[in-house]
Amino acid sequence: MSKLQSIRGFTDIIDDIDKWHHLEASLQALSAQYGYQEIRTPLLEDSRLFERSIGVTSDIVHKEMYTFTDRNEQSVSLRPEGTASVVRACIQGNLLYDQARKWFYISNMFRRERPQRGRLRQFHQFGMECLGYDEPYADIEQLVIINEVWRIFGLAGKLSLEMNYLGSRDTRIAYGEALKAYYQPHLASMSELNQKRWEENTLRLLDAKDAALISLNQAAPSIDAYYTDDEKRSFAIIQQCCQDHGIDFTVNNRLMRGLDYYTGLIYEWKSDELGAQSTVCGGGRYDLLFENLGEKRQGACGFSIGIERLLEICPHLETPRSIQVHLACMDNDHLPGLLQTAQRLRQAHSHISLYTQLQAAKMPQLIKRAVKKSADFLVILENPQGAQQFSVKDLNQQSHHAFDGEQLANFMEQCSC
Ligand code: ATP
Ligand code: MG
Repeated sequence: MSKLQSIRGFTDIIDDIDKWHHLEASLQALSAQYGYQEIRTPLLEDSRLFERSIGVTSDIVHKEMYTFTDRNEQSVSLRPEGTASVVRACIQGNLLYDQARKWFYISNMFRRERPQRGRLRQFHQFGMECLGYDEPYADIEQLVIINEVWRIFGLAGKLSLEMNYLGSRDTRIAYGEALKAYYQPHLASMSELNQKRWEENTLRLLDAKDAALISLNQAAPSIDAYYTDDEKRSFAIIQQCCQDHGIDFTVNNRLMRGLDYYTGLIYEWKSDELGAQSTVCGGGRYDLLFENLGEKRQGACGFSIGIERLLEICPHLETPRSIQVHLACMDNDHLPGLLQTAQRLRQAHSHISLYTQLQAAKMPQLIKRAVKKSADFLVILENPQGAQQFSVKDLNQQSHHAFDGEQLANFMEQCSC
């Protein structure tokens, strides 16, 4: 029988788990600082949610979703991104009826793409959604937060921000018509899918991945020629505020994002260190999404950062480490006493991480095991019946102590990494 393995593009997180904890805790703390609350939505949603929000001509819905028919014949999909589910939750719970909301999430996402560096089939995103504000200051605050994410992970100045402004539905329609005319002479050489995009959602061709279209796109019309005065003003405010906050950017009037629901500002942050999959963060405003889902219009903007790609560009993440104590004994009869000692120590000294070795061994093996677990101290329970005796080896300093229970408690209280 062939060995069971994880599915291609799905990975275990084992050795890096301390980095993940540190990263998640930092992002949670940062979100709390900015008044963003955590939201946890289900892994599985009605497929129509993604079809109506992300769009049927998007790569995600067209070919990347894990979609299957449930036993009750309902079509369901593993979430490929977070925004649609957050908006669905707000609509379902009527969460915006008397207040704006700011949400964050750290969640796994699923897309059936070709696995390669920076591209997994299960990956994780840290995302934020601000719902209920029309003004561009919500977008700016999110850019400031993202810039802060780079700063706290030692990445200040290492990512470049490109942005574009898509404007209202009317602007997009006018621009879309100009694009349609531009691409028309090249239609015959396009794939069937791109012809469909040309017909239904021409802007999407700007986000094409095939070489012929990428070069064609270089001379495509630019959206700024179609802005209204209000849109020009709004984009100018965003650019000015970025400058005020010391956020460098370039404007790319042909930048398009992979999802259909964007309207106003859209942006991507890229790193030079990631090879072909260089985008670490993407985001923008999606005021039309609520309407697309049959609801009242709501000002809304959000972004997401790919955590695997973020981890790849900060490999030397300093993770806080607690003191590691390895508690063991040399006689299996001492194991009940060892469990009791362990419990007492953990309750009294919450700053230590105490690993119990639940099988007796001789001294050389105990030392070997403790070193393998990267322990700072090996504590051996010598005599659990009478007055307790402990032999303590400091594995960093290579020193040795013999303690009674009280001395051990004092020692634990004082020791630090
Ligand atoms: P790309 O152009 O790389 O496919 P995208 O436009 O599909 O990106 P978004 O939907 O904007 O990506 O997702 C936001 C972020 O999530 C990306 O910038 C990236 O960091 C991360 N991401 C997206 N897809 C994957 C994946 N398959 N594996 C790992 N990370 C991913
Ligand atoms: Mg993609």
